[in-house]
Amino acid sequence: MAKTALVTGGNRGIGQQLARELAEGGWDVLIGARTNANATATRLRKDTGGRLRGVELDVTSDDSVATCAQKLRDGAIRIDALVNNAGIYGKGDTALTMETNFFGPLRVTLAMKPLLRDDATITNVTSGLGALANLDEAHRRLLRDPALTREALVDHMHAFVRAGGRGWGTDAYGVSKAALNALTRILASELAPIRVNSTCPGWVRSDMGGRNAPRSLEEGSASVRFGVTATQTGKVFRDGEEIAF
Ligand code: NAP
Repeated sequence: MAKTALVTGGNRGIGQQLARELAEGGWDVLIGARTNANATATRLRKDTGGRLRGVELDVTSDDSVATCAQKLRDGAIRIDALVNNAGIYGKGDTALTMETNFFGPLRVTLAMKPLLRDDATITNVTSGLGALANLDEAHRRLLRDPALTREALVDHMHAFVRAGGRGWGTDAYGVSKAALNALTRILASELAPIRVNSTCPGWVRSDMGGRNAPRSLEEGSASVRFGVTATQTGKVFRDGEEIAF
């Protein structure tokens, strides 16, 4: 039986490339997008001959995420791979950046949890800008602490937003991805045997990365795709190699 993947932000950029490749590889692919979800699925179906379907999904909205999960439940869909790819860089204030890049993956993961198969994978798309080395020492220690709980991490992220994105030694994007990596580690132990990893696409020529980026969409997508079938859990990878975070 074909496996099913849900890719958030699957309507353009790295997410769309990944959706295309998974469909070509025989996966049933759900394009979770707040814009053009159905149109993208229709176009990729024509291009690939694969099985793709659009589902409306705004990762910053509790209602949108709950409605999406309900629709999938109504369709008796089970998910083998969730890819939390949707993200923004430099397009919003601290609150929107955190809502999209950190709280979004958490919100989607918790809503989709009942639909995930026991051997499912969750891939959180991270960035080198989220490396702990970019944070000040105190926050580096905080995120690295193996005793850090999900509740405490969430509280710290709310406090970061209230502080206007100041005080961690780097910008909201960097903090959102560093915190996402810590969340990956925490969810890996909470959700086992489901495997949860972060994967970094590198600097990629998408709308976000710009035309001067050194990597193609295909290279970025391949790096992210590693998480979809990873046997490891709780790690951060680029190009299939574990990287320090
Ligand atoms: P992109 O071309 O700007 O695409 C971003 C995607 O995220 C779009 O599909 C966008 O949908 C979606 N999105 C944003 N906010 C959303 C929301 N609230 N709900 C649902 N979807 C939302 O960026 P990309 O380069 O493909 O980036 C994909 C991921 O890779 C991101 O997590 C990014 O941080 C990470 N990354 C990228 C690079 C790079 O160099 N490009 C480097 C490191 C990490 P709309 O069309 O509706 O806006």
